[in-house]
Amino acid sequence: MSPPPRGEAIGGGDAPADSPPLLVVISGPSGVGKDSVIGELKKKDKPWHFTVTATTRAARPGETDGVDYVFLDTETFLAMRDSGQLLESAEYSGRWYGVPRGQVSEALKQGKDVFLKIEVQGAETIRALAPEAVLIFLAPASFEELAGRLGQRQTEAAEEAARRLEIARQELAQVSRYDYCVLNRDGRLEEAAAHIEAIIIAEKCRVATRRVRLD
Ligand code: 5GP
Repeated sequence: MSPPPRGEAIGGGDAPADSPPLLVVISGPSGVGKDSVIGELKKKDKPWHFTVTATTRAARPGETDGVDYVFLDTETFLAMRDSGQLLESAEYSGRWYGVPRGQVSEALKQGKDVFLKIEVQGAETIRALAPEAVLIFLAPASFEELAGRLGQRQTEAAEEAARRLEIARQELAQVSRYDYCVLNRDGRLEEAAAHIEAIIIAEKCRVATRRVRLD
């Protein structure tokens, strides 16, 4: 019998150790709980890198510069974008958001799986740039549940919440363009994170691995 294609852990509990690092996009509408799910994934203490986005929006109470986001003025952000320092950038609800390129290439070089938390336009850009990326759409159990969560947020004015809900309606229609859809049901955060971890394990067990090239 010929040996397994790669990895010493075939048949064991873990995924093959030598599979190439993944670029994982966690996307979905504002309010669906991407930050909470990512917080849950961070607890798993895996060789995973979670990118810190650069943005021109103001910090919300409790957010720390360099940890939750890198908060920039528009001029600095656009200068970074124009000099190629952002892997992707998108304008969302009147503010800029973008993934610093250096963070991603450095983490991939170290063999870490890289997680990007981005809205739906940004996910499209990544798909075009790196077709090997794993695209995961985080979805609410229902539109009503999402509307409830956006409405409860104390951090945004009612007008901003309504604008985000309208964007969300369009974003939810894009789910078929993704590789996976994970439900983030109210009160079942651990389940959503477990499903994402299962996707990562399955991806690492693929015979035809995804090898990400960014340049
Ligand atoms: P928020 O203002 O609620 O933190 O983020 C607004 C939207 O921008 C969310 O859907 C969030 O996931 C998305 N976002 C966060 N970081 C990035 C990024 O680096 N690129 C893009 N395209 N979207 C991002």
